[in-house]
Amino acid sequence: MTRRSFWAWGMADQEPSREQYAALAHRLQRRYGVARELPQPPTAASLHLRKPRLTPHPLVAGICSMDDHDRAAHTYGRSFRDRIRAFNCDFPNPPDIIAYPRNEAEVRTVLDWCSNSNIIAIPYGGGSTVVAGIEPPPADKIVTIDLTRLDRVLEIDDTSRAARIQAGVLGPALEAQLRPAGFTLRHFPQSFEFSSLGGWIATRSGGHYATNHTHIDDFVESVRMVTPAGDWDSRRLPGSGAGPSPDRMVIGSEGILGIITEAWMRIQARPRFRASAGVVFDTMAAAANAARLIAQAKLWPANLRMLDPNEAQDFANLDGAQALLIIGFESAELPQDDHIRQAVAIARDAGGSISNDDILIADAAQRSDSSAGRQGAVGSWRNSFINAPYERNAAIGFGIVAETLETAITWERWPALDEAVRSALHDALQRTCGNGRVSCRFTHVYPDGPAPYYTFEGLGPVGAELEIHAAVKQAASDAVMAAGGTITHHHAVGRAHRPWYDHQRPDPFAAALRAAKQTLDPNGILNPGVLIDP
Ligand SMILES: Cc1cc2nc3c(=O)[nH]c(=O)nc-3n(C[C@H](O)[C@H](O)[C@H](O)COP(=O)(O)OP(=O)(O)OC[C@H]3O[C@@H](n4cnc5c(N)ncnc54)[C@H](O)[C@@H]3O)c2cc1C
Repeated sequence: MTRRSFWAWGMADQEPSREQYAALAHRLQRRYGVARELPQPPTAASLHLRKPRLTPHPLVAGICSMDDHDRAAHTYGRSFRDRIRAFNCDFPNPPDIIAYPRNEAEVRTVLDWCSNSNIIAIPYGGGSTVVAGIEPPPADKIVTIDLTRLDRVLEIDDTSRAARIQAGVLGPALEAQLRPAGFTLRHFPQSFEFSSLGGWIATRSGGHYATNHTHIDDFVESVRMVTPAGDWDSRRLPGSGAGPSPDRMVIGSEGILGIITEAWMRIQARPRFRASAGVVFDTMAAAANAARLIAQAKLWPANLRMLDPNEAQDFANLDGAQALLIIGFESAELPQDDHIRQAVAIARDAGGSISNDDILIADAAQRSDSSAGRQGAVGSWRNSFINAPYERNAAIGFGIVAETLETAITWERWPALDEAVRSALHDALQRTCGNGRVSCRFTHVYPDGPAPYYTFEGLGPVGAELEIHAAVKQAASDAVMAAGGTITHHHAVGRAHRPWYDHQRPDPFAAALRAAKQTLDPNGILNPGVLIDP
């Protein structure tokens, strides 16, 4: 059976082929006028990790691994910085042991062992963090607790439309278990294939739907979490005004308060009616304005994605001058024809153009509907969205520095934030690489503001990628903060965003969080360094 790649997004047999490397070298030649040798990706034989510094407690020995491949694969998440270091087999601080509990009792046993022996414990779901959320801190004993064997949907309540689900289940297995009952969680982050329910809850992840119910927060009905101080179990309720919400404390806790073992999640009937349109604009400002007007009209499209001209060229084959607004609606119950026409009318009034033939309306119950096979710009964008993380694998080893960063800002400050972030990215890329490209799209849109998502790329010398990346990330993050944005809209804080998060959150809140951690994790063993210092 093939294993997860220890450096790339996906499985080992999905690592880049020679053909993909050759195609990328060709693109670099065209874009930057530079000829680069094809990279030589690492193999498991290249791994020489520090020996484990502890042995598993006899009570958990049967569920622990000290295998080098396992330890390497659990050292980093999947940010650009992570993939570069793993590609270079740079693993100075791997976890000593990976524990794979099969049930909640085993989670408790591993956690008690760690807490009683002052061993650092790192909760691990799919390992798709891009903010170093699972990267071990400097410490002399480290156990990573991989939850992926807690992978079952335990109960479905089809009256209240909720399911009790174990936290380690990855996206595809979760949906596969809900599908026979006709349900979906309808939470699809781009990392869906290799991220887990517990990871989504711990990081407050954002699904790819642009408005309304898209954050994992919206779907959590109650949570179970095992902590060194005891089990945390909240009551299943559709809503409650009883004081600060215990669930709100768990959602976004990033593994510092306890290990989420299961949750009751709100589920939905699978969508039947769909409608989508790609509206073209002469300028990004006009497309962004149309997005604002549609969001403020409270139409709540499932998709409302503004692509700037560079994104629209890369992902939807437009000409590089025009911006694109992708609008999509879906429903299990009601045809969406009226909604899409109303949204398109608003977009046209705001300066957008689309022919009526390019408004796609589909009913899953009628497979022969007229939109089948007509995918247009919306279809191109969807395919690129799913493939993008795999395509980024091939960029490692060429000297390319490519990464994404995301934020959110209110509408009246969005133009100034955009100008500041683009300018910081361009300046930093010019200074470090002498070249570079920046693009932006909206991943989520609210009535009071968008969540802009920037992608940057530069080509520098092979071997200088980490240094260049640090300079560019610093410049862009400083610009986001100075413009009043958040350091993260849905990628979490982890270790990577700490300097800016520390600036963003109120100090008394940090003190309250520290006190909560001290109560739940008195020995400070759970994921230290994430969110707060112990
Ligand atoms: C290609 C790519 C695309 C991405 N797209 C999106 C996106 O669209 N939306 C989005 O929100 N994010 C996205 N991310 C970021 C990442 O996928 C999310 O943060 C995701 O929620 C992490 O889930 P995971 O199971 O992989 O968690 P991990 O990476 O394993 O862990 C993340 C954090 O959660 C903690 N944790 C994990 N499981 C538990 C648990 N059971 N109990 C307590 N703590 C736990 C860990 O300790 C760590 O702090 C993307 C990442 C990549 C690489």
